[in-house]
Amino acid sequence: MTQPFTVYKDPALEAAARDAVRLDEPRALLDRFVTLVRESGTADEVAAARYLADRLAALGVPVTVHTPELYISNPVRAELTLSGPAGIRGVHARPPAMARATGDDAVESEIVYVPSKYAGGTASLFDLPEAARGGGADDPVRGKIVLTEGFSMPAAVGAFERRGAIGEIFIHPGKNVHEGICTSIWGAPTVDSLSRKPTVPVCCIAHPDGDQLIADLQNGPVRAAMKTWLDEGWKLCPLPVVEIRGHEDPDEFLLVHGHYDSWYEGIGDNATGDAALLELARVLWGLRDRLKRTVRIAWWPGHSTGRYAGSTWYADTFADEIDEHCIAQLDIDSPGCEGATAYEEVMWMAEADALCRSSIHDALGLASERVRPLRAGDYSFNQIGPTGLYMLLSNIPIEERKRRGYYAVGGCGGNIAWHTPDDLMPVADLEILRRDLCVYLTTIIRIVNAPLHPFDYTAAIDEVRTAVVRYQDAAGAEMDFAPLLADLTALGATCAAWRGRAEADAASGPVERRRLNAVLRRVARLLVPLNYAKGERFDHDPALKFGPVPRLEAAASLAAAPADLRPFIKVGLVRELNKVRATVRALARELR
Ligand SMILES: [Zn+2]
Repeated sequence: MTQPFTVYKDPALEAAARDAVRLDEPRALLDRFVTLVRESGTADEVAAARYLADRLAALGVPVTVHTPELYISNPVRAELTLSGPAGIRGVHARPPAMARATGDDAVESEIVYVPSKYAGGTASLFDLPEAARGGGADDPVRGKIVLTEGFSMPAAVGAFERRGAIGEIFIHPGKNVHEGICTSIWGAPTVDSLSRKPTVPVCCIAHPDGDQLIADLQNGPVRAAMKTWLDEGWKLCPLPVVEIRGHEDPDEFLLVHGHYDSWYEGIGDNATGDAALLELARVLWGLRDRLKRTVRIAWWPGHSTGRYAGSTWYADTFADEIDEHCIAQLDIDSPGCEGATAYEEVMWMAEADALCRSSIHDALGLASERVRPLRAGDYSFNQIGPTGLYMLLSNIPIEERKRRGYYAVGGCGGNIAWHTPDDLMPVADLEILRRDLCVYLTTIIRIVNAPLHPFDYTAAIDEVRTAVVRYQDAAGAEMDFAPLLADLTALGATCAAWRGRAEADAASGPVERRRLNAVLRRVARLLVPLNYAKGERFDHDPALKFGPVPRLEAAASLAAAPADLRPFIKVGLVRELNKVRATVRALARELR
């Protein structure tokens, strides 16, 4: 019925860009960054920013260094003391960022073990574990210190806190403790969101210590005393940005970005990404006369210990420009890692499917698999609404990770050195980084040089419609999404027809081309929040797992909700449905 979406290509320029890739700058950056523990708000982070600025200056690429004040929580140390049948002993423990700091004031209670499962894959790291559900006055964790398996992710930490646990201990899946952050607050807190900051101390322990503790509990009650220290507050963090101006529509820009702060020396997460961004700046600067639109390249601080605080600050501070002129945002995290030859779990929004798939294929001759972007990484722009693509890119093949006995982690190409002191030079592979750079360059050139922004919003409308069908099936007769579904079907046809006409019309001259691209950006401003956001535009939803069209997601669990609660859920759903339908009408007006 509809024409397949055709992706703009410029084989000669794409090949020239890929051929221009050198590994000298990436190699030198890794050599420097491996000497820096780039915790936000520290001298090593400043040194890393200065290195980037100096190298860019040496390459002749103009750079602006912003210095925002970000809210940062750097874990310092924890003391976990156990007393039970086996006597009194201390266990090595680390507190996650943004958990409560007790200082010398220990939190002490009996341990209650709540067995849980480890995440099956990267895509389920943010899920609420089944074991964390529960509650009520006679909840066994109330007033106790809960012991459970998994990373201290915000959903689990928040759930146990609401159940009345006064402390939380997480057993990690391996021999190392992985650093992390446990708040759901995205970026700097506001007065309203501050109440979501965890109020209990949290300790993470290694798997062998967890096994020992579980064995101790078989022999009788064990009490824990938890002490945690975190260095928390507003800290000045440099944020370098490069702008490579296009020559045709320079106000329209692609934002290419990644974090340069890290846990420990963070080579695979994310010095390799920082090296990629620097090499992209060098190559694209050399090709600047052949770029039609602008590429902005940003290195974020505050990702690890500020919950994406750098990219969130940028979204807040440059909201107007992003809203009006940003074509898309492309995130670079943990590319170029050892053994990472597969593109089996790459995130991009549905409208970028044809672009990303063809870019990976044309750069490397490889097939790829899409994962819907998680509410994670530096996707701090969803509530303004540019299309988002990539986050993690190449990974060690799933089969190989199984063979190595790896468990799911959130970076380093799947290497379990992620967020540990082991994330050093052996985690990186510059030849793999070269491959990833070829993918990035092919994708970037297609985005900035395509006459029409190369995003198939009909595919995004399809994804929204499929989600609503699922919500209707789940809610049954309790909700009526039929009028919305009819609107979405019509909108999909309108969008496909619009694109067909626009492809021809864009060639008629710059005025018409610019008008059509402005329509595409406004369509994204409506569709991306519709598909990815729960809250209002220019805000930042919590770092929790959402399904597609989050406003209607409550429909999925309506049937299973307690009967007395169901009418309240339905009132909420009707209001959300009204917002969704208004958005769909606004989309239809843009495309008419
Ligand atoms: Zn990362």
